[in-house]
Amino acid sequence: MTTLVSLDDAKRHGLIRFFTGEPCKHGHVAERYVKGNRCVECDRVWRSPNQPNAPKAVRVPRAPVMASASASHGFSEPKAWPWDGGVRREPVLDMDHNPPRVVRQVGWRCCMKCAKPFFSDDVKALRICDGCKGASTANLG
Ligand SMILES: [Zn+2]
Ligand SMILES: [Zn+2]
Repeated sequence: MTTLVSLDDAKRHGLIRFFTGEPCKHGHVAERYVKGNRCVECDRVWRSPNQPNAPKAVRVPRAPVMASASASHGFSEPKAWPWDGGVRREPVLDMDHNPPRVVRQVGWRCCMKCAKPFFSDDVKALRICDGCKGASTANLG
């Protein structure tokens, strides 16, 4: 049924659709909604999920979430703790290795030169405090 109903008539009679007999910009000769002036055929196409020109929900691929970038890469270095008499040793782990590799051990120790306790970044290799180390390097030139 294609009775011509102008937009004004449709509004006057409280209709939701009107029909001018003129094709829409997509070539549909169809009724139009008073609200929005949209062709019902266009509206049907627009709403149908199977139509290629219907808007699709865009799926954005999500990047895998790293548990913690800082914890899974580089070195896991324990924080310095208060003086404990040089007992405690904590490993520094290279987290790039699987399983993580112990690269060195940190802990308190006494300087071999001045016997003062200091926190060593490498208890095996670093045996003198920063003060003595600076002095020794200066002596070595
Ligand atoms: Zn249309
Ligand atoms: Zn020292």
